[in-house]
Amino acid sequence: MNYTDTHAHLGRLEEAHAQLAALFEAGFGKILDIGTTSDDLAGRIGAFGRYPAVRFAAGIWPYPQAIADRKRMAATLEAQIEAAPTGFVVAVGECGLDHHQEQPDKAGERELFEAHIALAARLDLPLIVHSRDAPEETTAILRDHPGIRGIIHCYSYGVEEARVFLDLGYHVSFAGNLTYKKSDNLRETIRFVPDDRLLLETDSPFLAPQSRRGQPCRPGFIAETYTLAAELRGMDIETLKERIAANADALLFGQNP
Ligand SMILES: [Zn+2]
Repeated sequence: MNYTDTHAHLGRLEEAHAQLAALFEAGFGKILDIGTTSDDLAGRIGAFGRYPAVRFAAGIWPYPQAIADRKRMAATLEAQIEAAPTGFVVAVGECGLDHHQEQPDKAGERELFEAHIALAARLDLPLIVHSRDAPEETTAILRDHPGIRGIIHCYSYGVEEARVFLDLGYHVSFAGNLTYKKSDNLRETIRFVPDDRLLLETDSPFLAPQSRRGQPCRPGFIAETYTLAAELRGMDIETLKERIAANADALLFGQNP
């Protein structure tokens, strides 16, 4: 059961504690719990900080109110991270660009994203990047801020975009949509990502893999994504699990033991 899940929203799971207790009892690996608002960190650490295999990222998803109120929101986020007990926060995010729906304030969205990038640089933490329907805009911003490491989470683009993100030094993380029928571009791209830059995630409670579609996703569902990823990469699944765990340790969990 030693899977690693580099992106989950544990506070949105039904009966999260029962799920986590069962998973860790069965030997599940580490989980990165992801923030989406400026003030959710303390509550998440309070709820899930008791699990040694759960660590935290803190960031603001680019929703309209956050973009409108970005200066105050970014300041709150920074204060929350600084107030957190040492060793719990291992990344900044999620944050980024979402153009799936019309984004009326792209300049404001960019500023909110760049506030996270500045914070990641100052705290020397990796960045968890959300990028949907905005590949050029995302790569342009990341290119303007070299030297940041991090994860392009729930990867949704093709090989050419992956090449750019990898060249910029980022890891690429695939979620359960890798298993969806229409996701040929993802199945092609996952073969292209080098072993040492690959990560896997659930984005629970979103994006349950194909056999569970329609259900709220859970970290335990990640086995289906690992199985397909191992097949696509021509790798033994145990080797893949070790590889992902090592990558996640090197980027995320190893820095605050
Ligand atoms: Zn997420």
